[in-house]
Amino acid sequence: MKTPRIEINLGKIAHNAKKLKELYGSKGINVIGVTKVVCGDPAIAEVLVKSGINILADSRIENIIKMHDDDIHAKSLLLRTSLSQSELVVKYTNISLNSELSVIKELSKYAEEQGVIHEIILMVELGDLREGIMPSDLENIVNKVIGLKGIKFAGIGTNLACFGGIKPNDEKIEYLSSIAKDIEKKFGLTLEFVSGGNSANYDWFISTKNVGKINNLRLGESIFLGCETLERKPIPGLYTDAFTLIAEVIESKIKPSLPNGDVYQDAFGNTPKFIDRGLIKRILLGVGLQDVLVSGLTPLLDIDILGASSDHIIVDAKQTDLKVGNTVEFNLNYGALLSAMTSPYINKKYK
Ligand SMILES: *Cc1c(COP(=O)(O)O)cnc(C)c1O
Repeated sequence: MKTPRIEINLGKIAHNAKKLKELYGSKGINVIGVTKVVCGDPAIAEVLVKSGINILADSRIENIIKMHDDDIHAKSLLLRTSLSQSELVVKYTNISLNSELSVIKELSKYAEEQGVIHEIILMVELGDLREGIMPSDLENIVNKVIGLKGIKFAGIGTNLACFGGIKPNDEKIEYLSSIAKDIEKKFGLTLEFVSGGNSANYDWFISTKNVGKINNLRLGESIFLGCETLERKPIPGLYTDAFTLIAEVIESKIKPSLPNGDVYQDAFGNTPKFIDRGLIKRILLGVGLQDVLVSGLTPLLDIDILGASSDHIIVDAKQTDLKVGNTVEFNLNYGALLSAMTSPYINKKYK
């Protein structure tokens, strides 16, 4: 079998998706499946749809087109829009998250041209300081958006715990609810989406007495890795090991633990420091930083990752009897999963 490879357990992903849909659904919250960490992989997208997820979201239009071309039957939502992609966005997606009027005007132009209605969700900035309209500017923007042809103002949303690491707590989410109420009242409409956040909203959801007007969450990491994302705690009843990275031992020798010679920069411009562990069993794995965020890997054997270069991971194999040609398995965090799924050098194997 080819190495390096990532083994993808579709049954575990289906289980997680169903459980989360059931959990959030119990308080009236619909789950959108976010496929960006798996690069819109159509086999995985299909599993989400079969598990009852009816909207798939991705940040990359390329991934959405890939799922569209593979006949994935779900509504599609683009998480990140831009002026230059507007024509494609209207052509391939039903809904998009937006925070710039100039982009929405461009979407309107193409929606009219293509004879379709494009739904937009306006993102509201609640302190994490990535995308979003400042709350004080929102009414003004809504007022302009509802007049645009080809556009349906479908809702509002927020995104926390991504750039600023800001926790979606009761105060933040109640604020979003109250903004939704004000907008509905002021403009005499019903918002189809009040999208309260992402996998980081788990603790809020479990502890809150009242979800207010929140009827939607956009979930990626908790479906794929089975954890919430404020502290990366596993969510009870979910699998945290749906993905496994498998690398091959390409060298295995007893060598010193300290490099020998004058120390200068390594391959990435850092000046390395090493601890003397005496003679150790060192192995090289045929996978490196060009393939995966090595710092996000956890070996499933009792071995230590000493470092990595573009094409190698260097390991203290400790008491294991790993030989050339053997394989080593790793669990992956979000960054490692994202990079491994993106690397064309890593084989994808579905189980
Ligand atoms: C990535 C992303 C999500 C999903 O985040 P997870 O932490 O993977 O659940 C939701 N909303 C937006 C806007 C995103 O960019």
